[in-house]
Amino acid sequence: MEHNPWHLAQAQYDQAVRHLDLDAHLVEYLRYPKRELIVNFPVEMDDGRVRIFTGYRVHHNTVRGPTKGGIRYHQSVTLDEVRALAMWMTWKCALVNIPYGGGKGGVVVNPHELSSAELENLTRRFTSEISLLIGPDSDIPAPDMGTNPQTMAWLMDTYSMHQGHAVPAVVTGKPVSVGGSLGRNQATGVGVMYVTRQAMRKLSIPIEGARVVVQGFGNVGSNAALAMYAQGANVIAVSDVHGGIFNPNGLDIPALIEHVAEAGTVTTWPDGERISNETLLTLECEVLIPAALENQITAENAEDIRARIVAEGANGPTTLEADEILRRRGIFIIPDILCNAGGVTVSYFEWVQGLHLFFWSEEEILRRLERILVAAFEDCWRVAEERDLDMRTAATILAIQRVAEAAELRGVCPQL
Ligand code: GLU
Repeated sequence: MEHNPWHLAQAQYDQAVRHLDLDAHLVEYLRYPKRELIVNFPVEMDDGRVRIFTGYRVHHNTVRGPTKGGIRYHQSVTLDEVRALAMWMTWKCALVNIPYGGGKGGVVVNPHELSSAELENLTRRFTSEISLLIGPDSDIPAPDMGTNPQTMAWLMDTYSMHQGHAVPAVVTGKPVSVGGSLGRNQATGVGVMYVTRQAMRKLSIPIEGARVVVQGFGNVGSNAALAMYAQGANVIAVSDVHGGIFNPNGLDIPALIEHVAEAGTVTTWPDGERISNETLLTLECEVLIPAALENQITAENAEDIRARIVAEGANGPTTLEADEILRRRGIFIIPDILCNAGGVTVSYFEWVQGLHLFFWSEEEILRRLERILVAAFEDCWRVAEERDLDMRTAATILAIQRVAEAAELRGVCPQL
């Protein structure tokens, strides 16, 4: 079955908006992106050839502030995927109540096939191509799948060269030495732990010794695994694109992270049994953290999931049909827009620090991050209880309400 993330995002929106009493024009307005830019651009490769790449930057909504959202480098990027990710950013920022709208970007490229010089050329040219949209007051990119702090440093440098002076607040997720924030690199994974721990408290599941399974061992998956491990959880399985590794006695996550830095994959880790990604998803555990691509938990495998909590580190990992099945089976889902909001929350801290040129300690950042995420979790939990809803619908309702209120207060501008 073909899964289109944009159809999923809109279907989730339709499901949530039914519970709200919004004007028809608002319902329609928030259902579509505000603007979309498609760019085709040349990049010089190491062998002197020129290759043409396609990229996107989509702004879903801007009523609560400048658009915020990452840039993804992946071979399967499509305009519909970027649209979905941009809409989810709008809800995510509203849910944690930071003053941003939602945006997202992407380039159709497998970054592992490019050299560092080629990636730099691609990033600098893509930055120039989307420079009519980005800016510290208008649209602030960040890392996503396939991009990292180095990518953000190139983006910041290219934009700054055009302006004639350094503009650190044009992008977040930068290295600390060029105005990045302490804690940003781990923020999404640590945030997954904060909300999961809160869910476990509510459901009376002790975190100490809890079995945790993580799909995806990139920035989000590895940091979520590490944060859960540091809480005393038993991370029994992790995977990457090459496959998974399982050890019922628990994996030594700090050592595994060191191994992956050298070997490039979890699958060569000697202290465990090799398993497939499909098997990994169906392992019995307390917490399953999908932290890879969209559409991983589907109608085909949802009946086989044996987790008590699914904590969505990735954006859109659960299809609409699977969502329904998990709900019916009493599996508690921490929806993506809540679960992985730690990244954009610390991006907000980074942006504020960049605008003030005044930097905070890591302790201060983590304290503020925890406070914001726990408050957002509690808001969702309350709405879910009051209205007898699942957490995803509750989270989406809360977010839509905040965006709709801002849109109504701002009104409709008759001329431009
Ligand atoms: N790409 C991340 C996300 O999906 C972070 C976005 C940001 O920090 O702006 O939430």
